[in-house]
Amino acid sequence: MEELYGARVYGPVRSRRLGSSLGVDILPPHTCTFDCVYCQLGGTQHLVSSADEAPGRFPTTDEIVAAVQRVLDDIPELDYITMSGRGEPMLSPYLGDVVTRIRDITDVPLALITNATLLVSPAARSTASRFDLVVPSLDAATDEGIARVNRPATGFRVEDIIAGIAEVARSSATVWLEIMFVRSDEGPSNVDDASIDALVAAAKRIGPERVDVNTCVRRPAKEFVHALSQEELETIAERFRTADLPVLVVPDRPAG
Ligand code: SF4
Repeated sequence: MEELYGARVYGPVRSRRLGSSLGVDILPPHTCTFDCVYCQLGGTQHLVSSADEAPGRFPTTDEIVAAVQRVLDDIPELDYITMSGRGEPMLSPYLGDVVTRIRDITDVPLALITNATLLVSPAARSTASRFDLVVPSLDAATDEGIARVNRPATGFRVEDIIAGIAEVARSSATVWLEIMFVRSDEGPSNVDDASIDALVAAAKRIGPERVDVNTCVRRPAKEFVHALSQEELETIAERFRTADLPVLVVPDRPAG
């Protein structure tokens, strides 16, 4: 990902799913509610359960909107403005205001990439529902599985996370449920039959517009983690299709 326009706005990048996407990082450095074994950012520096525990301050609404405004005129074609960045974007206390203010200055659709932990809160679900596209991740459907793959901060239960995603999927936002499949030499993996069956059942409950079956394509945080081949992803995808879920196997590189 190339940083072209300063600290808060990245790209546009040619995303494998989102087309031409302008990334907006609205966090203090790598602050997240998860510390995923496959994270392409390396280990989470600040593992937190809520915004109150975050180090330093969050960029303000004015700072974020000014950064977006500065670059918009230079980018003729943009498919999405995407809240993501180095950590969990829903930690920002300004996210709702940012949505309102960016909608005032552009018609470019807004996307949110989230690990879905904070969707346990009604206020967070309400904010997420205001995006055009929400891409929540769910890599395991049991607390034990999440502990292995995502290594969360304290206080999160997978049951609440699944219920939160399901509620956003019933809103006007389009929801693409992303599942990152990885295997490892040392145990943390989610490709065994029981893990996949539990994820299929959770996806049925959520009812997303699409399930995105993915694997890590960049260097993972932990060297014992390995990506799956596209053929292996296709085999897993069939399990979701058999359950009547629309599936995309995310290609390992952008189109075009
Ligand atoms: S949720 Fe995303 S940013 Fe956070 S540790 Fe996992 S992959 Fe990294």
